[in-house]
Amino acid sequence: MARYEAVDSPDETTIFPYHDLTPPTVRDVYEARQVVSRHLPRTPLVRSDALSAQLDADVYLKREETLPTGAFKVRGGVNLVSQLDEEFTEAGLIAASTGNHGQSIAYAGKQFGVPVHIAVPEDANPDKVAAMERYGATVHRRGDTFDDAREWAERWAAEEGYRYVHSANEPALIAGIGTAGLEVLEDLPEVEYLFSPIGGGSSAAAYAMTVGAMTDADVIGVQSANAPAMHRAWAEDTLEPSDTMDTFAEGLATSVPFALTARMLREHLADFLLVEDEALREGVISMFEDEHIIMEGACAASLAGARKLADEIAGSTVVLQVSGRNIDRETFLELLDVE
Ligand SMILES: *Cc1c(COP(=O)(O)O)cnc(C)c1O
Repeated sequence: MARYEAVDSPDETTIFPYHDLTPPTVRDVYEARQVVSRHLPRTPLVRSDALSAQLDADVYLKREETLPTGAFKVRGGVNLVSQLDEEFTEAGLIAASTGNHGQSIAYAGKQFGVPVHIAVPEDANPDKVAAMERYGATVHRRGDTFDDAREWAERWAAEEGYRYVHSANEPALIAGIGTAGLEVLEDLPEVEYLFSPIGGGSSAAAYAMTVGAMTDADVIGVQSANAPAMHRAWAEDTLEPSDTMDTFAEGLATSVPFALTARMLREHLADFLLVEDEALREGVISMFEDEHIIMEGACAASLAGARKLADEIAGSTVVLQVSGRNIDRETFLELLDVE
């Protein structure tokens, strides 16, 4: 029973005794690769001629939006669920999500035959909710924000004995996501800058511990200035929640920083930029117009960050993580200014 009771957490989220907050190692990432490469395709790394010309650099896109579920997170979900303790394979999993974390866990649950519950905020992206349900997950709409849904899921996990899959304080998720970093290193060992969006920080932490720690490349995280919780954690070494959390890019919308990713980002991240939501909107539109790639708001943080750092990266070899494509029709048309 004690296993399902919350323990002290260094941040303001709830963790359980099965949450070991030791950062994953490169070895864990190589082990994750055995699993991830069996269940998911390798993603392409494609040079963008348009962005290379605009930024006067050699710009490559790591096309994580081509994965099943349409976002990078599924690498972590598959790795975590593959090593699930037997006691949870029957009870099942629960996660709180604005969408892509939920899709990742739902997808992995389906692959490994484990029941999945996902708590989402009431106004969750309808396409993401439909996808979770398609993968067989039970979706619970709880509260106005991600953090409301998260608190509900944390309580319910304790009551029902589900395995609560935290969106960041999970070494197995980060190790799984890190397999993308290994792919980048193999395909483009000369990479000098890699830009990754930051919400809870699992993706940037994974690139930072692989591409960042294993080479001289700078891994740069980019967050919305309207939801700067992790930025503050990184800059001020605090796990205080942020007062500001109001971004249209739901993949970046968290007001509470997470202990494990904050620690890893402080250790390995070269720089951490904040960008305005307007730059994210502009990034979605220009990626559509220049590359005909559809991406969601959160995903545009890589490009917005590279534009912000244009002077520094000119003449360099740059990778932009294309983190996800799950934008709904209404938001996309709004961005394109279609009535
Ligand atoms: C989750 C997500 C992010 C942010 O990733 P974190 O690991 O939470 O920092 C960025 N883009 C997309 C598409 C996402 O789903």
